[in-house]
Amino acid sequence: MRVLLAEDEPHLCDQVRKLLSAEGRVVDVVHNGVEALHLGSTEPYDMIILDIGLPERDGISVLRDWRNAGITTPVLILTARDGWSERVDGLDAGADDYMVKPFHMPELAARVRAILRRQSGQLNPVIEMGNVFLDTRTGRVSVDGVPVDLTAQEIAVLTYLAHNAGRMISRTELSEHIYEYDGDRDSNTIAVFINRLRKKLGPELITTIRGRGYMIDTT
Ligand code: CA
Repeated sequence: MRVLLAEDEPHLCDQVRKLLSAEGRVVDVVHNGVEALHLGSTEPYDMIILDIGLPERDGISVLRDWRNAGITTPVLILTARDGWSERVDGLDAGADDYMVKPFHMPELAARVRAILRRQSGQLNPVIEMGNVFLDTRTGRVSVDGVPVDLTAQEIAVLTYLAHNAGRMISRTELSEHIYEYDGDRDSNTIAVFINRLRKKLGPELITTIRGRGYMIDTT
Protein backbone atom coordinates (compact mmCIF):
# COMPACT_ATOMS: atom_id res chain seq x y z
CA MET A 1 0.00 0.00 0.00
CA ARG A 2 1.37 3.34 -1.00
CA VAL A 3 1.06 6.42 1.21
CA LEU A 4 1.75 10.11 0.49
CA LEU A 5 3.11 11.99 3.50
CA ALA A 6 2.91 15.80 3.20
CA GLU A 7 4.69 17.28 6.22
CA ASP A 8 7.31 20.01 6.57
CA GLU A 9 9.00 18.93 9.81
CA PRO A 10 11.93 16.70 8.74
CA HIS A 11 12.21 14.85 12.05
CA LEU A 12 8.52 13.96 12.05
CA CYS A 13 8.76 12.87 8.39
CA ASP A 14 11.59 10.49 9.26
CA GLN A 15 9.69 9.00 12.17
CA VAL A 16 6.48 8.48 10.22
CA ARG A 17 8.26 7.10 7.17
CA LYS A 18 10.18 4.59 9.31
CA LEU A 19 7.03 3.56 11.13
CA LEU A 20 5.01 2.94 7.98
CA SER A 21 7.88 1.32 6.08
CA ALA A 22 8.31 -1.15 8.92
CA GLU A 23 4.71 -2.24 8.28
CA GLY A 24 5.43 -2.84 4.60
CA ARG A 25 4.04 0.45 3.27
CA VAL A 26 5.69 2.51 0.59
CA VAL A 27 5.90 6.19 1.55
CA ASP A 28 6.43 9.22 -0.70
CA VAL A 29 7.32 12.36 1.26
CA VAL A 30 6.74 15.98 0.19
CA HIS A 31 7.42 19.09 2.27
CA ASN A 32 5.10 21.73 0.85
CA GLY A 33 1.53 22.15 -0.30
CA VAL A 34 2.31 22.64 -3.98
CA GLU A 35 4.13 19.30 -4.27
CA ALA A 36 1.45 17.64 -2.17
CA LEU A 37 -1.28 18.89 -4.49
CA HIS A 38 0.64 17.71 -7.55
CA LEU A 39 1.56 14.19 -6.39
CA GLY A 40 -1.79 13.60 -4.70
CA SER A 41 -3.52 14.56 -7.96
CA THR A 42 -1.40 12.43 -10.25
CA GLU A 43 -0.29 9.30 -8.33
CA PRO A 44 -2.63 6.50 -7.20
CA TYR A 45 -2.12 6.59 -3.42
CA ASP A 46 -3.96 4.28 -1.07
CA MET A 47 -4.09 7.08 1.48
CA ILE A 48 -2.60 10.49 2.25
CA ILE A 49 -1.30 11.97 5.50
CA LEU A 50 -1.58 15.74 5.20
CA ASP A 51 -0.19 18.35 7.58
CA ILE A 52 -2.53 21.36 7.68
CA GLY A 53 0.29 23.85 8.34
CA LEU A 54 2.29 23.39 5.13
CA PRO A 55 4.38 26.07 3.38
CA GLU A 56 3.39 27.41 -0.06
CA ARG A 57 -0.16 26.02 0.09
CA ASP A 58 -1.99 25.21 3.31
CA GLY A 59 -3.30 21.69 3.75
CA ILE A 60 -6.99 22.67 3.82
CA SER A 61 -6.83 24.32 0.41
CA VAL A 62 -4.90 21.36 -1.01
CA LEU A 63 -7.53 18.99 0.33
CA ARG A 64 -10.38 21.13 -1.10
CA ASP A 65 -8.70 21.10 -4.51
CA TRP A 66 -8.37 17.29 -4.44
CA ARG A 67 -12.00 16.82 -3.49
CA ASN A 68 -13.18 19.35 -6.09
CA ALA A 69 -11.17 17.43 -8.69
CA GLY A 70 -12.97 14.22 -7.69
CA ILE A 71 -10.01 12.62 -5.91
CA THR A 72 -11.46 10.36 -3.25
CA THR A 73 -8.21 9.00 -1.73
CA PRO A 74 -8.65 8.80 2.07
CA VAL A 75 -6.90 11.69 3.85
CA LEU A 76 -5.75 11.86 7.46
CA ILE A 77 -4.92 15.41 8.52
CA LEU A 78 -2.32 16.44 11.11
CA THR A 79 -3.24 19.52 13.13
CA ALA A 80 -1.83 21.61 15.98
CA ARG A 81 -3.04 20.98 19.53
CA ASP A 82 -5.06 24.20 19.66
CA GLY A 83 -6.29 23.82 16.09
CA TRP A 84 -9.88 22.73 16.74
CA SER A 85 -11.22 25.03 14.03
CA GLU A 86 -8.68 23.55 11.55
CA ARG A 87 -10.01 20.11 12.38
CA VAL A 88 -13.56 21.26 11.70
CA ASP A 89 -12.49 22.87 8.42
CA GLY A 90 -10.45 19.80 7.48
CA LEU A 91 -13.26 17.33 8.15
CA ASP A 92 -15.71 19.57 6.27
CA ALA A 93 -13.24 19.79 3.38
CA GLY A 94 -13.30 16.00 3.07
CA ALA A 95 -10.72 14.62 5.53
CA ASP A 96 -11.45 11.09 6.76
CA ASP A 97 -9.65 11.34 10.09
CA TYR A 98 -7.24 13.56 12.02
CA MET A 99 -4.38 13.41 14.49
CA VAL A 100 -3.44 16.19 16.90
CA LYS A 101 0.26 16.97 17.22
CA PRO A 102 2.21 15.80 19.08
CA PHE A 103 0.91 12.26 18.77
CA HIS A 104 2.11 8.81 19.67
CA MET A 105 3.42 6.86 16.69
CA PRO A 106 1.53 3.62 17.48
CA GLU A 107 -1.73 5.61 17.38
CA LEU A 108 -0.91 7.03 13.96
CA ALA A 109 -0.01 3.53 12.72
CA ALA A 110 -3.32 2.17 14.02
CA ARG A 111 -5.33 4.96 12.35
CA VAL A 112 -3.51 4.35 9.06
CA ARG A 113 -4.32 0.63 9.27
CA ALA A 114 -7.96 1.40 10.08
CA ILE A 115 -8.27 3.78 7.11
CA LEU A 116 -6.67 1.28 4.72
CA ARG A 117 -8.97 -1.46 6.01
CA ARG A 118 -12.08 0.68 5.56
CA GLN A 119 -10.91 1.71 2.12
CA SER A 120 -10.75 -1.90 1.00
CA GLY A 121 -13.83 -3.08 2.91
CA GLN A 122 -11.78 -5.31 5.26
CA LEU A 123 -13.39 -5.31 8.67
CA ASN A 124 -10.93 -7.63 10.36
CA PRO A 125 -7.25 -6.69 10.87
CA VAL A 126 -6.36 -10.31 10.12
CA ILE A 127 -7.06 -11.16 6.49
CA GLU A 128 -7.88 -14.82 5.95
CA MET A 129 -7.15 -16.37 2.56
CA GLY A 130 -7.87 -20.08 2.89
CA ASN A 131 -5.08 -21.48 5.06
CA VAL A 132 -3.02 -18.28 4.73
CA PHE A 133 -3.43 -15.54 7.34
CA LEU A 134 -2.05 -12.01 7.00
CA ASP A 135 -2.05 -9.91 10.17
CA THR A 136 -2.11 -6.32 8.87
CA ARG A 137 -1.12 -5.00 12.32
CA THR A 138 2.22 -6.75 12.29
CA GLY A 139 2.76 -7.79 8.67
CA ARG A 140 3.08 -11.37 9.93
CA VAL A 141 1.97 -14.17 7.66
CA SER A 142 1.22 -17.77 8.56
CA VAL A 143 0.23 -20.87 6.62
CA ASP A 144 -1.74 -23.51 8.55
CA GLY A 145 -0.75 -21.63 11.71
CA VAL A 146 2.98 -21.80 10.96
CA PRO A 147 4.72 -18.39 10.63
CA VAL A 148 6.37 -17.73 7.28
CA ASP A 149 9.22 -15.24 6.72
CA LEU A 150 8.57 -12.80 3.89
CA THR A 151 10.71 -9.93 2.61
CA ALA A 152 9.36 -6.38 2.80
CA GLN A 153 8.57 -6.44 -0.93
CA GLU A 154 6.83 -9.79 -0.73
CA ILE A 155 4.68 -8.43 2.12
CA ALA A 156 3.92 -5.31 0.06
CA VAL A 157 2.72 -7.40 -2.90
CA LEU A 158 0.70 -9.78 -0.72
CA THR A 159 -0.86 -6.91 1.26
CA TYR A 160 -2.03 -5.07 -1.85
CA LEU A 161 -3.50 -8.20 -3.40
CA ALA A 162 -5.12 -9.19 -0.09
CA HIS A 163 -6.69 -5.76 0.44
CA ASN A 164 -8.11 -6.04 -3.08
CA ALA A 165 -9.10 -9.69 -2.90
CA GLY A 166 -11.60 -10.72 -5.52
CA ARG A 167 -10.42 -8.08 -7.98
CA MET A 168 -7.98 -8.64 -10.85
CA ILE A 169 -4.86 -6.49 -10.35
CA SER A 170 -2.66 -5.70 -13.35
CA ARG A 171 1.12 -5.68 -13.04
CA THR A 172 1.07 -1.93 -13.68
CA GLU A 173 -1.40 -1.28 -10.89
CA LEU A 174 0.55 -3.52 -8.53
CA SER A 175 3.82 -1.75 -9.31
CA GLU A 176 2.17 1.65 -8.74
CA HIS A 177 1.23 0.58 -5.23
CA ILE A 178 4.41 -1.15 -4.10
CA TYR A 179 7.12 1.20 -5.37
CA GLU A 180 7.97 4.77 -4.41
CA TYR A 181 7.56 7.66 -6.82
CA ASP A 182 11.25 7.69 -7.78
CA GLY A 183 11.63 3.95 -7.32
CA ASP A 184 12.78 1.61 -10.07
CA ARG A 185 9.46 0.25 -11.31
CA ASP A 186 10.33 -2.85 -13.23
CA SER A 187 7.07 -4.74 -13.66
CA ASN A 188 9.05 -7.89 -14.59
CA THR A 189 10.22 -8.16 -10.99
CA ILE A 190 6.55 -8.47 -9.98
CA ALA A 191 6.50 -11.94 -11.56
CA VAL A 192 9.52 -12.82 -9.42
CA PHE A 193 7.76 -11.72 -6.22
CA ILE A 194 4.64 -13.65 -7.18
CA ASN A 195 6.68 -16.82 -7.76
CA ARG A 196 8.39 -16.46 -4.40
CA LEU A 197 5.03 -15.93 -2.66
CA ARG A 198 3.69 -19.08 -4.31
CA LYS A 199 6.71 -21.07 -3.13
CA LYS A 200 6.33 -19.82 0.42
CA LEU A 201 2.53 -19.74 0.72
CA GLY A 202 1.34 -22.44 -1.66
CA PRO A 203 0.60 -22.51 -5.38
CA GLU A 204 -3.16 -21.98 -4.99
CA LEU A 205 -3.20 -18.59 -3.28
CA ILE A 206 -2.55 -16.25 -6.20
CA THR A 207 -4.24 -16.82 -9.55
CA THR A 208 -2.56 -15.58 -12.71
CA ILE A 209 -4.92 -14.16 -15.30
CA ARG A 210 -2.83 -14.60 -18.38
CA GLY A 211 -1.75 -11.36 -19.99
CA ARG A 212 -3.79 -9.31 -17.53
CA GLY A 213 -2.64 -9.70 -13.96
CA TYR A 214 -3.14 -11.45 -10.64
CA MET A 215 -5.89 -12.12 -8.19
CA ILE A 216 -6.42 -13.52 -4.72
CA ASP A 217 -9.82 -15.12 -4.42
CA THR A 218 -11.00 -15.38 -0.82
CA THR A 219 -14.43 -16.79 -1.51
CA1 CA B 1 3.74 22.12 9.53
